[in-house]
Amino acid sequence: MSPMQLECDLLVIGAGMAGLSAAGWAAERGARVVVVEKSDAIGGSAALSGGMLWTASSPARMQLYAGGATALAEVVCQEYPRAIAWLRGRGIHLSPAMRVLHGYGYQIDILEHLNGCARLVEQHGGHVVRGTTTERLLRDEAGRVVGARTSHADGQVDVIAAKTIIATGGFQADPEWRARQIHPNARDMLLRSNPCSDGAGLRLGREAGAALEEDHPGFYGHLVSASPAWGDPKLYTLLSQYHSDHALLFNEAGRRYCDETAGDHTNTLQTVRQSHGRAICFWDERVHAEQATQPIVPIAPPMDRLAVALEHGGAGIAAAGLDAVAAFADAQGFDGAQLLRTLADYNERARHGWETLDPPRAESCLPLDRAPYYALVVLPAITFTFGGLVIDPSARVLRPDGAAVPGLLAAGADAGGAFGLGYAGGLALAMTYGITAARTAGWN
Ligand SMILES: Cc1cc2nc3c(=O)[nH]c(=O)nc-3n(C[C@H](O)[C@H](O)[C@H](O)COP(=O)(O)OP(=O)(O)OC[C@H]3O[C@@H](n4cnc5c(N)ncnc54)[C@H](O)[C@@H]3O)c2cc1C
Repeated sequence: MSPMQLECDLLVIGAGMAGLSAAGWAAERGARVVVVEKSDAIGGSAALSGGMLWTASSPARMQLYAGGATALAEVVCQEYPRAIAWLRGRGIHLSPAMRVLHGYGYQIDILEHLNGCARLVEQHGGHVVRGTTTERLLRDEAGRVVGARTSHADGQVDVIAAKTIIATGGFQADPEWRARQIHPNARDMLLRSNPCSDGAGLRLGREAGAALEEDHPGFYGHLVSASPAWGDPKLYTLLSQYHSDHALLFNEAGRRYCDETAGDHTNTLQTVRQSHGRAICFWDERVHAEQATQPIVPIAPPMDRLAVALEHGGAGIAAAGLDAVAAFADAQGFDGAQLLRTLADYNERARHGWETLDPPRAESCLPLDRAPYYALVVLPAITFTFGGLVIDPSARVLRPDGAAVPGLLAAGADAGGAFGLGYAGGLALAMTYGITAARTAGWN
């Protein structure tokens, strides 16, 4: 018996930030949309997020800090005002504008936006179907994507659509794919995202002839302290050591290995490449007072990040002297004596020769020499991958020869190339490309 058929204007695979933004945008403009979501709940990683919708404050800064394909990255900056105007127009709650890393943004009521998009779909005759996987994309004789065969507890349904948007949120939940594309140590990396984004969208696209960015090791994540309760989404922000860009990072050999000031997300990427994919994050009293106990964005509550890490089972120490730091490092399997030599060398050069530092410190180069001292073992945790389906600035999925796969679009973490090794806002990336994909599908 052939599967039941359901017809619509637009099929969206994945009900997270990119997928629901695309679906809501198109529905509001009259499209009949079907959204299929693998999980029993909608929202994906976006629903776990802090809802800080921000991006780089100019295309030049985007290029400097995110370093992706210029034409793709610029779409995020260009489309961001449209995304904010749409939220405002729908009455979604936004905080006052605030500085975030190398850009600006707003804390939005993320659940209000996501649920509002789902409501728009249903109000316009569409459906948001949970607990549904996609077996394969359907193609006509000319190779055009005309929907997908989906599978639900009640059986298979062929969703027939003029356009299909892939938005399943990346491949971070697949350890083998992480090991292949990011680094062998990435196989064991902690997952800091929804658990469903295992690369299904990329596989579906590839089977339909799409090109993948195979050599893209970039990802977004944070350094976190260990906890036996890891996997509880509440810990994803609570245990993130956002202040690592003001600290020093030492590998097991007791040496610095990156420009920490490039940002905690970049430090995460550098740490996964170190022996056993871990590091000691070290800071002093000044950094503790100015950064490690301060909120990452003005709207968040202050907290002592070392104390919180220790409460949740992390390995760390606050010490009056450096000998105790070295002993702690030794006990954790790091070279404590070398760590102290590296630290002394760093402090000397920070005062009298920053230009000789290797690795350099591009953004700030102050000595870390005020007791008490703080040391915490940190591990990389991945939130989403940067290497996805190859797209053009209109969100059309491309084949290896550069031609578009007809009928197929991609957005969010499934769409590769906008970010290189840096980061400039995951929600903004997902929302701007979600809207772009919906507009390219004909819903302007
Ligand atoms: C703890 C945390 C905090 C964050 N904070 C911020 C922040 O403050 N600011 C910011 O910019 N970014 C933040 N992010 C990142 C942001 O949430 C993501 O960049 C964004 O949600 C990505 O959007 P997406 O649509 O690509 O993926 P998601 O929002 O994850 O959506 C993907 C959806 O696809 C579904 N799916 C997966 N496989 C399938 C399949 N085979 N079929 C159908 N559906 C499927 C998933 O279940 C999910 O619902 C945070 C993330 C986390 C986890």
